[in-house]
Amino acid sequence: MRSRGRPDGAGLRILFYHRVSDDDDALAVSPRRFREQMELLASSGYEVVDLAAAVDLLELGLSPPRVVALNFDDGYRDVAENALPVLERLGFRATVFLPTGVIEGTASFPWYERQPPMLGWDEVVELDRGGTLRFEPHTVTHPNLLLLDDAASRREIAQSKLDLEAMLARPAESFCYPAGLFGERERRFVAESGFRAAVSCEPGVNLPGGDPLRLRRRQIDPADRLLDFRAKVGGGHDTPLPLRGIYRRLRYGEGTPQRPPAAAVR
Ligand SMILES: [Zn+2]
Repeated sequence: MRSRGRPDGAGLRILFYHRVSDDDDALAVSPRRFREQMELLASSGYEVVDLAAAVDLLELGLSPPRVVALNFDDGYRDVAENALPVLERLGFRATVFLPTGVIEGTASFPWYERQPPMLGWDEVVELDRGGTLRFEPHTVTHPNLLLLDDAASRREIAQSKLDLEAMLARPAESFCYPAGLFGERERRFVAESGFRAAVSCEPGVNLPGGDPLRLRRRQIDPADRLLDFRAKVGGGHDTPLPLRGIYRRLRYGEGTPQRPPAAAVR
């Protein structure tokens, strides 16, 4: 959608990360960059909320200009070690999406030779009570849901909700499609499982009255400098030309490819 030249078009934005670590990993934003990004939000007057609060606002018909929601996918331990202290200091909140079988230790991520440490259930329960991080399900084994038959796809979605609810003794409300891959079938299973909201990996803004089971999010990548981050928060990445063209010239210089390098999404 056009923002008529304003860098911050209307609509509620959701930013997502995976890891916050100095490890050489396409999914890891460095703790220094993460801290700078959060401090930029704080000094710019942003309120940073978890997904439940964002969905509350949208349901009330609101998308305040200086509110962004924050998500962390997959449940890496470095989020508690390196992101949580920053969030606590600034009074920010975030939602962490967990593949319950990976947390349990009965499944693992195929894209790692050596999987980074994950949060354990004890930590998840304690952190959820702490109030800064709120945990929600992200399937059981983190599959590509589109490749599964109906029963398996439904089970991945519904069982992860039951797993998390059993651990946290409260209802799970929001779901995260692994790698943002889903179709009408998955959206239906998510609705039938009783979720109130679900997030994709499609960039863009979320407007009141939009579909809460296909919320848009923007990934923050390891290579993002503050300029990139500011553009993602302000919508510079999902508005059409000329804003986007100006942004690309700033970021990649003249004569560079029209598309930035494909980012890792999990
Ligand atoms: Zn994931």
